[in-house]
Amino acid sequence: MIPGARLVLLGRQGAGKGTQCTRLSRHYVVPHISTGDMLRAAVKEDTPFGRKADGYMSRGELLPDDVIIGIVEERLAKSDAQRRGFILDGFPRTVAQAVALIDITMNQPIDVVIDLEVPRELVLERLAARRVCQDCGANYSVVSPPKYGWTCDVCGGDVVQRPDDTEEAIQRRLELYDTQTAPLIDFYERRGELVVVDGVGHPDEVTARLIAAVDARKARGLG
Ligand code: AMP
Repeated sequence: MIPGARLVLLGRQGAGKGTQCTRLSRHYVVPHISTGDMLRAAVKEDTPFGRKADGYMSRGELLPDDVIIGIVEERLAKSDAQRRGFILDGFPRTVAQAVALIDITMNQPIDVVIDLEVPRELVLERLAARRVCQDCGANYSVVSPPKYGWTCDVCGGDVVQRPDDTEEAIQRRLELYDTQTAPLIDFYERRGELVVVDGVGHPDEVTARLIAAVDARKARGLG
């Protein structure tokens, strides 16, 4: 049987986490759990919670820790994540969320936390060019668009610019990354759980680096 994995991916917005998590999720056959995708689904369904989340998201602000921790705890309790593991994308984003995650995964700890490193100038360029499928969240860009117009290759949905990829919201999200999320790198480094992977280069190269880093860490864990 293909062994599963329990991974956390950290990295600035636009570092390529979404694309790489999709690939890692296929490779290790584990669910890709993206808090951003879960929130966007709630916004699309136009539930009272979705409308509230939309307010935070369109301003580029973070949702309150207790709300997002509850969502992740519920998702990680599902049988696929319990059996095979998971790739967490977009969570944790604050030290309080990281502390809660230790508690949530007490019985099956995380294998490795990866910091996907991409310089700020490059992510700004990538975010301006980014386009996503409104329905399934597949990632594209103006330089690698879908095959037919702006129709998603995966599900046929409309491919658009994310509403929070405006200049103002991008600046706010990157600022929050530096103040709230970057301290997690230190937090995980001190716990000996962090691996830094260079996120610059062709997506295939980056995937190969990520798999090599995860496998090396898992082999060490088993040894
Ligand atoms: P993302 O797609 O990961 O960039 O997330 C989009 C937006 O969802 C963020 O800008 C936040 O408003 C919200 N969000 C996603 N994950 C979290 C989290 N772990 N904590 C708080 N807010 C979050």
